[in-house]
Amino acid sequence: MAHNQLHQPHQLYIAGRWCDARSGRMETVFNPATEAALAEVAVGAAQDVDDAVAAAAAAQAAWGKSTGVERAACLRAIASGVLEQQEQLARLQTANNGKPLSESLIDIGDVVATFNYYAELAEQLDTHQDQPVILPSDDFTATLRREPCGVAALIVPWNFPMVTTAWKVAPALAAGCTVVLKPSEITPLPELALAAIIDQAGLPAGVFNLITGSGAEVGAALVSHPAVRKVSFTGSTAVGQTVMRAAADDLKRVSLELGGKSAALMFADADIEQALDIVCGGIFFNAGQMCSATSRLLIERSIAEDFTARLKQRVESIKVGDPMDPATQMGPLSSRQQYRKVQQYIQQGLNAGLNVVTGGGRQPAISRGYFVAPTIFADVPFDSPLWCEEIFGPVLCINTFDSEQEAIAIANRSEYGLVATVLTSDRERASRVSAALDVGLVWVNSPQVIFPQTSWGGMKKSSIGRELGPWGLHAFQEIKHVVMAAFG
Ligand code: NAD
Repeated sequence: MAHNQLHQPHQLYIAGRWCDARSGRMETVFNPATEAALAEVAVGAAQDVDDAVAAAAAAQAAWGKSTGVERAACLRAIASGVLEQQEQLARLQTANNGKPLSESLIDIGDVVATFNYYAELAEQLDTHQDQPVILPSDDFTATLRREPCGVAALIVPWNFPMVTTAWKVAPALAAGCTVVLKPSEITPLPELALAAIIDQAGLPAGVFNLITGSGAEVGAALVSHPAVRKVSFTGSTAVGQTVMRAAADDLKRVSLELGGKSAALMFADADIEQALDIVCGGIFFNAGQMCSATSRLLIERSIAEDFTARLKQRVESIKVGDPMDPATQMGPLSSRQQYRKVQQYIQQGLNAGLNVVTGGGRQPAISRGYFVAPTIFADVPFDSPLWCEEIFGPVLCINTFDSEQEAIAIANRSEYGLVATVLTSDRERASRVSAALDVGLVWVNSPQVIFPQTSWGGMKKSSIGRELGPWGLHAFQEIKHVVMAAFG
């Protein structure tokens, strides 16, 4: 296959081969910008999961014993395959998910960086195997080694299909795990194209497998399969809890990346222009369908009126429309279900008489597709569902504070704890507030930049464990110590 042509299979990928689902069932996936059918994709079920897990289990021993350098070569081949086809992949993801083309290209840059980063870590594993442990006794020596967990089930959502997949596949393969990937039933096309690239990357058959299908059938069968040793899941908190319960029977290792209701804290001394960009990016990027969306904006009271007015102006200039148009800044929501869910929240806000600063319904003048207008509600009560629950759409809720302590207390009053944004020109305040927030990642005067070297994940009901960085690799490894008495 020529590398500049995107291979778009719509089947399952098991033991190094494309195959139909045993049931023969197919399901339509859609373009959320036009509501048109895009493709028919195989619908896997428990028997297909058995086949994929058997293939992964058969490949595990040899892959787990391969050198880090060998595994790194495959990861680098995947990175360059993705880079070579970035334009086609971006168009495919945008067609299936609805995010603007410019955002799909950012996602692809992240995917390439992630595979290259874990290639580096895999190479280092060879030299750092059997690390000596300093003991307080000359009678013993000890070494620490990390071994692959075994077969890993990787389950991902639809909002960042290729990114969430790369954050799991790259460290799992680097660690020496074999994997079965389950994409979201809403956006399987980007992962199918990625699987076609992985197919060309030199991995032994069975190391990487992909099963499309529903969460209730494929996801549940993977999580309860006795030969799966590790489950890495990204999705909603409610499903994450179900996954954790199901994994408990075999005490499978579990990593969970779940929901959020994150806060941006805007202090009166912040740079206003910079803050407008950061606040808009934090909630309207990907039409707000981000676990890390800063969907609660806390503004210091003295500037609240002025800042809200400027924000309204800025938001009303966001170009909403065809995500394939390079000028578009916000596309549709990714599915009919998500569109309905977000509209219900907006309606709830309107029914409760909340103060609508802008938006508040469907994007005007677009007749087809799941387009919601960028929406802001001000003075949202702290007990409103719009303030407390993850809406996962372009809906920003604003409230005010009078003191730093109050801002921190309000931000922390959430069952979630994924990320936060702090906007201030006072360096000491930035450090104090960052230290006091119960979240896994704080951005100070920064857009939501993500580096593979820093961790991803949060506190409370947002996560178990961390992705990215060395922690992402450790999530797919078991620790073994060997303690030896001195030989005589
Ligand atoms: P979801 O929980 O509905 O589905 C996620 C995945 O789990 C899908 O592939 C789905 O098919 C599968 N699934 C569903 N039921 C299952 C079951 N019983 N067993 C196993 N798998 C099952 O979430 P979604 O709607 O696809 O994604 C949106 C959610 O994902 C939001 O809550 C968002 O915050 C979260 N998310 C979190 C992060 C993060 O890094 N913390 C990143 C992206 C998205």
